Amino acid sequence: MISALSLQQLQGRFGGELINGSVQFDRVCTDTRKVDAQALFVALVGENFDAHDFVGELEGQVLGLVVDREVPGCKLPQWRVADTTIALGQIGLLCREQFKGRVIAITGSCGKTTVKEMLAAIFSQRHTPCVTRGNLNNQFGLPMTLFGLSRDHDVLILEMGASGPDDIGYLCSIGKPQVSAVNNVMPAHVEGFGSVAAIAKAKGQIYTGLQVGGTAVINADDGYADYWRDHMPAGVRTLEVGLGHQCAIHADNIAMNEHGCPAFDLVIEGLVHPVKLQLLGEHNVHNALVAAGCAFAAGVPAADIASGLGNLKGVSGRLQELLGLRGATIIDDSYNANPGSVSAAIELLAQRAGKKILVLGDMAELGADAEEMHRQVGELARERGLDALFTLGPLGTAASVAFSAGRHQPLHNYRDREPLVAALSHELNQDTTVLVKGSRSARMELVVQALSGND
Ligand code: ATP
Ligand code: UDP
Ligand code: MG
Repeated sequence: MISALSLQQLQGRFGGELINGSVQFDRVCTDTRKVDAQALFVALVGENFDAHDFVGELEGQVLGLVVDREVPGCKLPQWRVADTTIALGQIGLLCREQFKGRVIAITGSCGKTTVKEMLAAIFSQRHTPCVTRGNLNNQFGLPMTLFGLSRDHDVLILEMGASGPDDIGYLCSIGKPQVSAVNNVMPAHVEGFGSVAAIAKAKGQIYTGLQVGGTAVINADDGYADYWRDHMPAGVRTLEVGLGHQCAIHADNIAMNEHGCPAFDLVIEGLVHPVKLQLLGEHNVHNALVAAGCAFAAGVPAADIASGLGNLKGVSGRLQELLGLRGATIIDDSYNANPGSVSAAIELLAQRAGKKILVLGDMAELGADAEEMHRQVGELARERGLDALFTLGPLGTAASVAFSAGRHQPLHNYRDREPLVAALSHELNQDTTVLVKGSRSARMELVVQALSGND
């Protein structure tokens, strides 16, 4: 935190009740298994546990508590509120209000973490950015990022994730961005929204949530670009990025190197800056354009944007190239999957030389169309000439059947990881590239570990 806060300050601003007086704090913790004697403990109610069940033991171990019911017999100062998750956000808001630097927020269906890491690479050259750690992009993670703000930071980069229609608006009310972008809209997490159009509307709250005078970075190549233009709030500037030359920031002369890393000319207000990405996949040109737009809107000189983009080495679990058993190339894209990111992965794999194998764990949270989307992925893998598709999970059957249609090939569809890995190991040699991908729940990183000899 930039300056200490007090329970009294919180109660004065947001209501609730003070019990056993106030206390000052400059740290927050939420897990009784990892307490900090100098911190305020916020008792959250989760899916598995209710932290209120453990706070009785915390006297002497933390400075005070935020609770939704009085803890009988506890002498610690307490702020009693209706909802401790909201309270966590309110503490985050006060931290945000102490911060005087620029604030950038990114949402989208895929690539948020990648764009965030690109921005971190750009800003780290001359600034000290405070950046969402890992994927902590929701109502818990965003406040945690804000608690981490210190006097050293001069720019704040927030990843915002949505699993329901009002999530982004809520996160903006705490993070208060001055520059924001929707990276893209694709069918990801459809279950929480009902339709792709509903996803677009929900993500648009990152623009309506901008501070007056803020800048909305629009990905002009996205199918919803017109929708953003039509729904832009008054008093917000727009900056368009994309492949088209009409965009203030665009990419020209895209070429892929032999590994599948793109190089391109980044054109910013008519001046050309060559960029060589160290990331795999052409979709990263789009991510780079959105990152460039955000950085430019926040005042970074164009040359620094180009050099920063080229510095980023990779983002863990997102299309990372590794050496596998028997000299095979493994591309670890195990972090997550939805139809958009699987298509991007197939396009990348299709461009590799030698034998190309896609290993796909089931894509989760796709709602009623889940089977059809798996079928389409199988079809795309066949159209792009991949040599084999191995699937893990019940939905994978639809992908495997579509991939093998009309060909006399065995289906490589598995219910368990061990037989899949055993069958795959026979395919590994120096001439083979295996791309491993799947939803978080499919835990495909375990397949990557097995194929790399690290299990
Ligand atoms: P999450 O919603 O899980 O936080 P995210 O939006 O942060 O995801 P990343 O973690 O950056 O996204 O990437 C997730 C997956 O999407 C990776 O497999 C990555 O290769 C792929 N991906 C990244 N950017 C794009 C893009 N612009 N288009 C398609 N796929 C992409
Ligand atoms: N918690 C805790 N002590 C424990 C177990 C859980 O303080 O021994 C906290 C945990 O840090 C979280 C809350 O209780 O803030 C809810 O836990 P749960 O595991 O249900 O959280 P979720 O699965 O929603 O992350
Ligand atoms: Mg992410």
